Amino acid sequence: MCGIVGYLGKGNAKSIVLEGLKRLEYRGYDSAGLSLLDEKQNQFNIYKEKGRIAQLEKIIDLNDARVAIGHTRWATHGRVTKENAHPHQSNNGRFIVVHNGVIDNYKSLMKTYLPDTVFHSETDTEVIVNLIELFAVKKTPANAILEVLKLLEGSYALLVIDINTPETIYAAKHKSPLLLGKSDKGIVIGSDMMALVNTADNYLALDDETFLRITPKNFTLYNLEGEVLPYTMSLLDLDDFSSEKGEFEHFMLKEIHEQPAVLRRIISKYYNDTDIHIDKILLEKIKAHDSIHILAAGTSMHAGLIAKDLLESLANIPTQVHIASEFAYQQPLLKGKPYFILISQSGETADLRACLVNLKKEKYQTLTVTNVRTSTLAREADDYMEIYAGPEIAVASTKAYTAQIAVLATLAYALSDQSFDLKRELSEIAQAMEHFLDKKDQYKDLVAATLTKRNCFYIGRGLDYYVCLEAALKLKEISYIQTEGFAAGELKHGTIALIEEDTPVIAIISNRKTADNTRSNLNEVKSRGAKTLTITTESLKETDDQIVLDDVNPSLSPLLTVIPTQLIAYYAALIRGHDIDKPRNLAKSVTVE
Ligand code: GLU
Repeated sequence: MCGIVGYLGKGNAKSIVLEGLKRLEYRGYDSAGLSLLDEKQNQFNIYKEKGRIAQLEKIIDLNDARVAIGHTRWATHGRVTKENAHPHQSNNGRFIVVHNGVIDNYKSLMKTYLPDTVFHSETDTEVIVNLIELFAVKKTPANAILEVLKLLEGSYALLVIDINTPETIYAAKHKSPLLLGKSDKGIVIGSDMMALVNTADNYLALDDETFLRITPKNFTLYNLEGEVLPYTMSLLDLDDFSSEKGEFEHFMLKEIHEQPAVLRRIISKYYNDTDIHIDKILLEKIKAHDSIHILAAGTSMHAGLIAKDLLESLANIPTQVHIASEFAYQQPLLKGKPYFILISQSGETADLRACLVNLKKEKYQTLTVTNVRTSTLAREADDYMEIYAGPEIAVASTKAYTAQIAVLATLAYALSDQSFDLKRELSEIAQAMEHFLDKKDQYKDLVAATLTKRNCFYIGRGLDYYVCLEAALKLKEISYIQTEGFAAGELKHGTIALIEEDTPVIAIISNRKTADNTRSNLNEVKSRGAKTLTITTESLKETDDQIVLDDVNPSLSPLLTVIPTQLIAYYAALIRGHDIDKPRNLAKSVTVE
């Protein structure tokens, strides 16, 4: 969600920061801003705009700066306006700040410390910068910032400039992600690894409650008491960050197409001829527990539902799935020896972090399954497993969902007595995905003809129902069609009242045991006027079925049946002319609770 980039060094700060902000665009934002050191005038210029970075770029009239801080805002306090966009400057002009996060106690800080201050924005951030100004009257800037940090409740990734020492950037982090990258070109600091690419060789992912003083060649890390902390930088592996659209019109379409390759990458990382590469100690640790609780949000929660099925059927461990934002504040009664798996594409989901903090306090064992091994949740859980999906830029998640399922299937399989060859099954699914995607163009007209209303239903049973939940979310996210995923048998218990002439109903049928029942439910809505579309598999197909997929192992069918639903969402949004990769109101990694 939103982004921060700062730079000092011998490179062109404006291009490095703008380039970094553009790489963070995928996280979602509604306005952008930048402050640049104008050495000739010996001042910092501030530029900000509502809307896209491209708009901001147009108003920047300074080219060669060596110090810059930039920000993309996803409004939490105050409307989307130019005034509320960052950077914010203290009232006497001395301090300039960009901030990601939320300050929960900003109102009481305002009342206690700044009763007479005039504010120029509606943000919580403006309180921070004016507090720094206030404390800096009697303290060094570093001590003033530290003093403020100790008062803040909430989350922050913060960059601060004191115009009196233009070649220093101060930075601080708590709960919102922040990473520092270094090379002989200078020092870059950003809220996501993507911002560091091209500028850094080494990086350091900052821990909570840390503070940095950065100069063009060096930096010092402190805790909030101002004590210097040791650190070790890691090598930035550029191969992990290919993030170009290539031949595809949108990142989402590219990422849909990457799924077979991602499955093959997962196979290469987790399997060799005879063995599965999951730490035996981790497997023993999980086996020593008597239940598993999966915590996740959104698409990852839907992947968790499939994982539940696999962990129960393969590994024989009772498993429950919880919505993280609910679990964090209403923990269910836990009996016996529960184990916790947290699923997060970004590894930064604030709702999950809130759960993790509690679970650690209660001394439960935790495993994070994530796409970002440097992320907060990967670092803070007892163990982590990487899903190897590569950067997912489109806000609507596709390849991370299938990668999460494939990795959790691998875990369930490793915990089981392994009576079949999962590696072979996964590579067959990769082929079946390709087979379907080769024919994708023929489905655009079908989508146009089916989705003619403002609403839509997906129906299915068992695993198909879980895929319906994800399919409905995907369609909502980017086409803005109000969609519900329904257990097919449940529709007639009320919701069928919503079916009218031409209401689109899409059925997923991939399981022989429930196929006939789902088909009956489909007939029930058809008789009430619904326009239906069926996604099924070769051995279950009937004459009028529109989308027929290759047969795969039914317990892994979600990996395949979800692909047409992703494409349906993509085409529905394309036909409506929406911004597919950056749907309205959404952010990629949801770093606020
Ligand atoms: N809470 C701040 C605001 O509303 C920062 C939002 C963000 O993280 O972009 O301006």
